[in-house]
Amino acid sequence: MAVKDLFPLSEEHQMIRQAARDFAQNEINPIAAEYDEAGIFPMKTIKKMGEMGFMGIEVPEAYGGAGMDTLAYVLALEEICKADASHGTIMSVNNSLYCSGLLNFGSETQKERFLRPVAEGKAIGAYSLTEPMSGSDAGTMRSRAVRNGDSYLINGRKSWVTSGPVANFIVVFAMTQPEKKHRGVTAFLIETDKPGFIRGKMEPKLGIRASATSEIVFEDYCAPMDCRLGEEGDGFKIAMSVLDAGRIGIAAQSLGIAEAAYEASLAYAREREAFGQKIGQFQGIGFQLADMKTRIEASRLLVYNAALAKERWKTTGERFTLEASMAKLFASETAMFVTHAAVQIHGGIGYSKELPVERYFRDAKITEIYEGTSEIQRLVIARQELGLR
Ligand SMILES: Cc1cc2nc3c(=O)[nH]c(=O)nc-3n(C[C@H](O)[C@H](O)[C@H](O)COP(=O)(O)OP(=O)(O)OC[C@H]3O[C@@H](n4cnc5c(N)ncnc54)[C@H](O)[C@@H]3O)c2cc1C
Repeated sequence: MAVKDLFPLSEEHQMIRQAARDFAQNEINPIAAEYDEAGIFPMKTIKKMGEMGFMGIEVPEAYGGAGMDTLAYVLALEEICKADASHGTIMSVNNSLYCSGLLNFGSETQKERFLRPVAEGKAIGAYSLTEPMSGSDAGTMRSRAVRNGDSYLINGRKSWVTSGPVANFIVVFAMTQPEKKHRGVTAFLIETDKPGFIRGKMEPKLGIRASATSEIVFEDYCAPMDCRLGEEGDGFKIAMSVLDAGRIGIAAQSLGIAEAAYEASLAYAREREAFGQKIGQFQGIGFQLADMKTRIEASRLLVYNAALAKERWKTTGERFTLEASMAKLFASETAMFVTHAAVQIHGGIGYSKELPVERYFRDAKITEIYEGTSEIQRLVIARQELGLR
């Protein structure tokens, strides 16, 4: 049975994949290199993606989203990332880190106010857990939120916020009870046009350069009580639960990058000649292509499997942490493996900015780092298997 037959796609799934593919190839592909080089946020295409429903795919129509399932999200994201991983990063943070947290933990009033505009693509959402001194070990964050009557005063510095320079709303995590460590973290919905919110330094990056990443700073930012997401002390649970969803998105992003690099390599191996034959006829090149293809198809199985596990969770409540981490770990390492081989197969031109292969290589690296490094994924998988929570 072919891999594609294990996941027969409904007409709706095929339609969203085709719509994403057409948009990605016609509108994103032609501008991707230019925006990467300049490091400019692609506002125009992101707005169009919002109009097409790509910025809130799993959000019910009642809250302004496309009302589709996780497999639809994964299929669309894969196609967008095949053209440009930067667009994919922005789309994935909006969908799985911002919208999914609000959908699962927000009150009705919060959904109306903070979810609807982002799901409709009229505003941009972000997620801010990391700080300069805490990444993987998020429970040691230093940002503080101190209760002050009917509101909280937030102070601190958060780092590496995807879409931080452009976001209208950000889910931010801060300590309300530092002595409780990770059990003392609380989540807040931040409006970036309010006093006390400051956009900090931009992060100059190796890859996904068209996605904007910055620090954000809070100086006596006043968050009213109705902007607290969940209960006091629920923040860490919310952050981790949202990351489970996010990791499926990053796995789909990895798959898209790897596919783009593989297809370019296959085409090049068929046409480039050396020593009187096509380079694809050298066993050394053929074997590389075989390994690339096999790892991509294995990744696809894990990614779609994780999407279906998340879909089941909506009715059974059974967590999909293991499936999400396995998909993210394997697909991201595959993206790195495949893009590394792709540059090699292309030889000198693979190292040139005249072709997108070097961009795929630079973009692939981030998938092994954000939303939990590969080491953290291995830790999560081992803990799940050993029954250590
Ligand atoms: C481009 C980009 C965009 C990002 N976007 C966001 C965003 O939108 N929101 C957000 O909150 N964060 C974001 N991040 C932050 C990202 O999630 C963190 O960088 C990541 O989680 C790693 O944290 P760290 O950088 O502090 O590394 P550290 O946690 O300091 O890790 C350093 C090294 O130690 C290893 N390590 C740490 N703990 C263990 C352990 N227990 N066992 C084995 N090895 C370990 C790590 O795997 C890594 O190799 C982004 C980062 C980048 C680069």
